[in-house]
This record gives sequence, structure tokens and C-alpha cells, in this order.
Amino acid sequence: MFQRKLPLSPPSPRVLLSIDFESWFALSRRYDSIQDSKARRILDGGFSMQAVDLILKQLGTAKASFYLVGEIVEWYPEMAEKIAAAGHELGFHCHVHRSLSRPEDLTLDIRRSQSWIERHGVRGYRAPMVRISEDAYPLLAGAGFQYSSSIYAPAGDLLQNAGVWELPVSTWKWRRGFHALAAPRYFSMELLRSGELPYGSSFVSGLSGRGVLGLLARELKAGRSPVIFLHPYELVRPENWPERMRGDILRNPQLLPFLVDKSGFLNALLHRFPVSPLGAWLGEVLQGGVQDV
Ligand SMILES: [Zn+2]
Repeated sequence: MFQRKLPLSPPSPRVLLSIDFESWFALSRRYDSIQDSKARRILDGGFSMQAVDLILKQLGTAKASFYLVGEIVEWYPEMAEKIAAAGHELGFHCHVHRSLSRPEDLTLDIRRSQSWIERHGVRGYRAPMVRISEDAYPLLAGAGFQYSSSIYAPAGDLLQNAGVWELPVSTWKWRRGFHALAAPRYFSMELLRSGELPYGSSFVSGLSGRGVLGLLARELKAGRSPVIFLHPYELVRPENWPERMRGDILRNPQLLPFLVDKSGFLNALLHRFPVSPLGAWLGEVLQGGVQDV
């Protein structure tokens, strides 16, 4: 269960911008079972490294959180340094991109990325597919993580679970009010039916970037700092894209919004709103103090 906390002096409202930094093929899920990291590196085909340079350029002076896939950091050791040197926050997405719903899988996955996590002082975690279990929080605390951003919940909520802060990916709720929250809270029909739109997901910005920009404006006006994420393949087109995903789309049309080019959306967002990494915002919150709700 999450405990709700209130910042005593809330930081200035801004969009908490994150990139779930995974290879193009993570979207398909068809390759999740490939055990050989070398085979996945060949599949990546240099895309991840090319994407970093272009995304850093698109961001300009704006700073974001990059939740990295650990095996990509292994493939291209200069990548993490490059992102950190540009002033962005490095976070952990997973070591190999696949579902980590069993606690033993998560423990093993974190262990495989331990060295670069320590080297870069990584404090933040985003679960693959934004799916996390209650059991994961004590494991994250034990592994030294300060915060997670792995559930969906209305913007403005500051939550804590087993000593780990949770900064949820934002949803828009038409009737705000107090609800006890527990993990998992992922993008599901159930969530939509309950009147919550998970607009922080790039699925929703793929359906209507303009709609998401409108919601962000409303959140900031209300003094809240919403959390949103994008993927590298939404900002930089992989080779032969989106034709390469045709088979996957036919099998699962719900992937379509993730194939939309969101570089225009990012550009508009950066022109309209102040942005910051999640970790920097949390640092400001903690400096000002928090109280129980
Ligand atoms: Zn992911």
C-alpha cells in the first residue's frame, strides 16, 4: 500500500519528462525470449546509439530522466556517460526488457546492472510496461533506489511504499478525490472504465498529442507537476519504420499509437512548458520537507 505525503513547499510546476530508453524491438515483445544478448545487439543494429545523439539534440537545454535498459549500457559503454554529461538524470528501466512481475526476476535483473547503477549513482526506477508489484518496493529499497515511477495515478500525488518514493506516471481523473492506492496500477481497460486517462503514457500522446498538451497546461495551472514518458523510437525513426512492425501491428493494432512520430509533440511541449527530470523535482520536494496526509 502507498502512503500519501504532502510537500510543505511544493516546487514550481513543470512537466517531469522521461524517456524509457529501450531498443526499437522492445515494442514488439516477440524478442523478449531471446536469451543471447549478442543476438539482441545485432537486432538493435546501432539504433540505440544513433538515437541518443539525436534525442539529446531535440532536447536542447531541457533536462529529462533517461531510464536505461542495462544491456544497452553494456553494448555502448559511452552512452550513459554521454547522457549524464549533457546534464540529464540516469535511471534504471531494467537490464533486459521484459516483464519482471516476479520478485526473484527483479532481484536478478537489478543485480545484472549493478555495476553501472552504482557507477552513476542511479536513484530512480521505471518498471518495464509500467507494471510493478507491491513486493518490488522492499527490493528496490534494498538495492538503494530512492524512487520509482512505475504505477499510473493522478498527477500531484506524492506516494511512498516501503521507504521508496513513488512518482506515478500521470493520469487525468475527472472526479478527483481520495482513493487508497496499491500496486500494480497499469494501463488497463479497468483503469479507463474507472474514469482515469493515463495521458502520461506515449500511447495517449500517440492518439492525441494536442489533447495531452491541453491536459498538461491544466495540470501546471493547478500547480501540479505531471509525469510523462516517451520512447527513443517515437523520437527517432528506426530503419524501415514503421513497415518493419507491420506483422506486429496486424497481430496487435494497439501498438499503432507507439509508432507515431512524436518529435513534433516533444518540440511543442518544450516550447510551452518548463520541464525537469523526476529526480531533480523530488530533491526539491524533500529539501522543502513533507508531511503525512
Ligand atoms: Zn519499456
